[in-house]
Amino acid sequence: MTYDDEKKWCPKCRRYVKYLQSYNSSYCSVCGEKVLLFNDEDWAKFKKSLQKPDGSAPPGAMPKQPPSDSTTGAR
Ligand SMILES: [Zn+2]
Repeated sequence: MTYDDEKKWCPKCRRYVKYLQSYNSSYCSVCGEKVLLFNDEDWAKFKKSLQKPDGSAPPGAMPKQPPSDSTTGAR
């Protein structure tokens, strides 16, 4: 088993790095930048996985356009 969860995303190194745990933050062990739990891409995936479409469409099957047809449609 690997311990990938011991790594966090460093926006400066632009990769998952080992980090130093402070009392309420974590810092990159390479450059000292504050690290994040996920990178932007993984955050987007994470948020998407939380958002449940009101239908039962799986994530990825959602249309790209926002559901704004109610504002433009006359009915
Ligand atoms: Zn770094």
